[in-house]
Amino acid sequence: MKAMGPIPTGFAASADGSLLIGGTEGLRLIGEHGAPLFVYDRSVIDRQVARFRSAFAGVDLHYAVKANPHPALLAHMGTLVDGFDLASAGELATVEAAGLLRPGLPVSFAGPGKGNPDLTDALDCGVCVHVESDGELDRLLSVARVIGKQPSVGVRVNPPFGLKGSGMKMGGLASQFGVDHEAVPALVRRIVEAGAEWRGLHVYAGSQSLSAEAVIEMQRATVALAGDIAAEVGLTPPEVNLGGGFGIPYFSGDKPLDIDAVGEALAETLAARPAVLRDTRFVIELGRWLVGECGVYLTRVVDRKVSRGKTFLVVDGGLHHMLAASGNFGQLLRRNYPVAVANRFGDEPEEEVTIVGCLCTPLDLLADEVMLPRAEVGDVIAIFCAGAYGLTASPQAFLSQGAAREVLV
Ligand SMILES: *Cc1c(COP(=O)(O)O)cnc(C)c1O
Repeated sequence: MKAMGPIPTGFAASADGSLLIGGTEGLRLIGEHGAPLFVYDRSVIDRQVARFRSAFAGVDLHYAVKANPHPALLAHMGTLVDGFDLASAGELATVEAAGLLRPGLPVSFAGPGKGNPDLTDALDCGVCVHVESDGELDRLLSVARVIGKQPSVGVRVNPPFGLKGSGMKMGGLASQFGVDHEAVPALVRRIVEAGAEWRGLHVYAGSQSLSAEAVIEMQRATVALAGDIAAEVGLTPPEVNLGGGFGIPYFSGDKPLDIDAVGEALAETLAARPAVLRDTRFVIELGRWLVGECGVYLTRVVDRKVSRGKTFLVVDGGLHHMLAASGNFGQLLRRNYPVAVANRFGDEPEEEVTIVGCLCTPLDLLADEVMLPRAEVGDVIAIFCAGAYGLTASPQAFLSQGAAREVLV
């Protein structure tokens, strides 16, 4: 038997033992919407935003759209957060189509490789471009001249530190992301001299951290770095985006990030911030921590077989929808996501099974040697922590299998 990750809090069984998501049984949701199905529970998002607000008074919250760009989820997010952070022109189009772009709502567009059409879209929509290099600033300024728009520009900084122990380290190294911190003051001067609006600094040093200590240290270093850059330029940045990096528990032994401890430490850091940052607006941008736990991927058992003593449940979904659960989305070691038999959620585990998807590749392993209640053909498997980097982070065209549905409840 192998362990699985903890099922996120807030999921309970109905009177007849079925998993409830947003108050509705998984089987009923599949009956209404089809399978395989991603269900996003808005009450979980509401809970996370409320926890953030209570821990980080006075700090703005932005949603990083790449974690989950489902239109209904975005529209709900629009009622909760203070801004959006985008990483492509496609995300910009999705946010615009959801009716979320409105004057005064901060929306920023970061990411390497923004081409002239992307920059044109950003200028047309009036969103703030976070430039990642000198060359990108040149192109932004020339596109803006051609189409007669006043650019609003932030600078993505490649910091001299990273988020310690985070899943993906993005800082302290040579990087395609951001401008090396020592070159930032000169770039800011160029923005101001060109007559563009300088909106501030953006420092993103890593993701998926469960260590309050590491996040606190990163935020302290970020505020200090922003203060040094601002002092060297001699201007107050209107906004400093402190990045995010808040993780959620996925695997056995993972403990939730203590965000109250992070909030207390950040309040102290900000109270003691350099004078040049006195009037700066501080932002934390989160994706996974806001939406990861709201999502459940429901997939039906289509076959049950025993091979050399090992029981396999073969489901109608797979890694083409939920790559991360197969261990192939940047993980070094494959470990089991939390899973359950949705229509027997209240039952005790009674057998060891391996759950595989319908793709013709051994990579399509969704749960390896886990203990579950007995599941038959037609039963429904729930994979938790599917709200971030689920469907849109998966190779949906691989093997030409069916599409997944998505619903916000
Ligand atoms: C991916 C990304 C995020 C979101 O990361 P999460 O781990 O989902 O919170 C935020 N900002 C930037 C710049 C990113 O690249």
